[in-house]
Amino acid sequence: MQTTAAATVAANFAAVKEMIAKAATKAGRTGDAVTLVAVSKTHGAAMIRPLLAAGHRVFGENRVQEAMAKWPALKQDYPDIELHLIGPLQTNKVKDAVALFDVIQSVDREKLARALSDAFAKTGTARDCYIQVNTGAEPQKAGVLPADADAFIRLCRDELQLPVQGLMCIPPVDEEPALHFALLRKIAERNGLKNLSMGMSGDFEKAIAFGATHIRVGSAIFGGRV
Ligand SMILES: *Cc1c(COP(=O)(O)O)cnc(C)c1O
Repeated sequence: MQTTAAATVAANFAAVKEMIAKAATKAGRTGDAVTLVAVSKTHGAAMIRPLLAAGHRVFGENRVQEAMAKWPALKQDYPDIELHLIGPLQTNKVKDAVALFDVIQSVDREKLARALSDAFAKTGTARDCYIQVNTGAEPQKAGVLPADADAFIRLCRDELQLPVQGLMCIPPVDEEPALHFALLRKIAERNGLKNLSMGMSGDFEKAIAFGATHIRVGSAIFGGRV
């Protein structure tokens, strides 16, 4: 039997899916053009299982350590889970991250890009990568600066042979996100990248209007972080 909290998560999930479909239709896109990455950080398996039971498989976590405690057991039960790393990755955790995650969305500096390239070569299995762009040029935030993005994408893709699928951004909290979504899209277009990971609980409908292919939604599904 589901607990009340688990039932709430299931209901929130259904509501978010509905909002995604509506936003996609409004933008002239199909609902399946947008992948929902359910951000389960700080929430335990009991809150994740209702989504798995509803057929959802794509999840995001921002800490390698936390994810390692939570996901191996869930992946055993649901082998088709697709796990995205959306938080900062230290080079000493690359090996663990590559073993657990299917997608690395936070490639943000040369040292990390080289470590990933080495790890992929060593294990013989690459992981899809996204370049994180610090669209607001915030000093405390990870990501390459917009002015450095083209050169960094070239380095990752051409020299290091990383499978770069797209770009990711986290707009400044106090600015209109649309400007940042538009900027990320422009950088992706001029570099021939097709995926855009942008939009969170408060702004994913707007992100969909600006072409997001992946939205990262946490609190709108799981409630406040514990
Ligand atoms: C936590 C987090 C999210 C989800 O944020 P919500 O506002 O809870 O939807 C998305 N992206 C990143 C990188 C995060 O760390």
